[in-house]
Amino acid sequence: MVYKQNLHTHSVFCDGKDTPEEMVLKCLERNFNSVGFSIHSFVPYSKTVVIPLERIKQYKAEIRRLKEKYKGIIDIYLGIEYDFYSEGFEDGYEYTIGSVHYLNTKNGIQGFDNNLQSTLNYIDAHFDGDSLSFAKAYYETVASLPTIQKFDIIGHFDVLTKNNELKRFLDTDDEKYLGFAKDAILALKGKIDIFEVNTGAISRGYRTSPYPSKALLKEFLVNGFKPVISSDCHDKNFVDCYFDESAKLLKEVGFKSQCALINGKFEEISL
Ligand SMILES: [Zn+2]
Ligand SMILES: [Zn+2]
Repeated sequence: MVYKQNLHTHSVFCDGKDTPEEMVLKCLERNFNSVGFSIHSFVPYSKTVVIPLERIKQYKAEIRRLKEKYKGIIDIYLGIEYDFYSEGFEDGYEYTIGSVHYLNTKNGIQGFDNNLQSTLNYIDAHFDGDSLSFAKAYYETVASLPTIQKFDIIGHFDVLTKNNELKRFLDTDDEKYLGFAKDAILALKGKIDIFEVNTGAISRGYRTSPYPSKALLKEFLVNGFKPVISSDCHDKNFVDCYFDESAKLLKEVGFKSQCALINGKFEEISL
């Protein structure tokens, strides 16, 4: 890998295990050129995994401190992972990830990103047991991300399949399912150019392959999107989990390059 970077990193400021500085030191040990921090922004429907609004100032100050301290050694970026239902959108970030973890269901706004049993319960309680309705609602929300604000990166595009590697609740080859996902890709085209190959669920033992699926990677390719590889890191030991394999996967699918944030701008670099 010519330029090693991870732009999807969580720390003790939200639900990550490590301080940002511990993460930076691990990145240095693993020969990263750059690391970006992407706090879970504040969402009023969650009490545990997001940053409280009153800590945002402190988060920004800490990442800026590290940026100065490690200048010339490793490039550090201040980013944020917003949700469609985030509150407190504001300027001052060097890049933004747009993700969906909550859906507007018949029982109000509810978060779904969890284990298999809670996903099954979620579909039962909020979508009358119909996983295709769940998928439709998910991809429609993803497709609406650009209506909220400008995002640089589409976060974990098919994260609804986190607990579905054995197709326990969704047939991801089903034409209807693929249709919802493809419609979202077309809706995002020209609005958010970059998507991430996200390996986070591999390091946490939920999956053996990254998001998005191979079939959806092909759709991103034919529609001209550019990939970044990221580990959605919550534990420094997994900061480069499955990076080499993801680069190989992208090449197999037909991608010739990936993107990296270099000197504050996204550039295409070789895989
Ligand atoms: Zn996320
Ligand atoms: Zn994340």
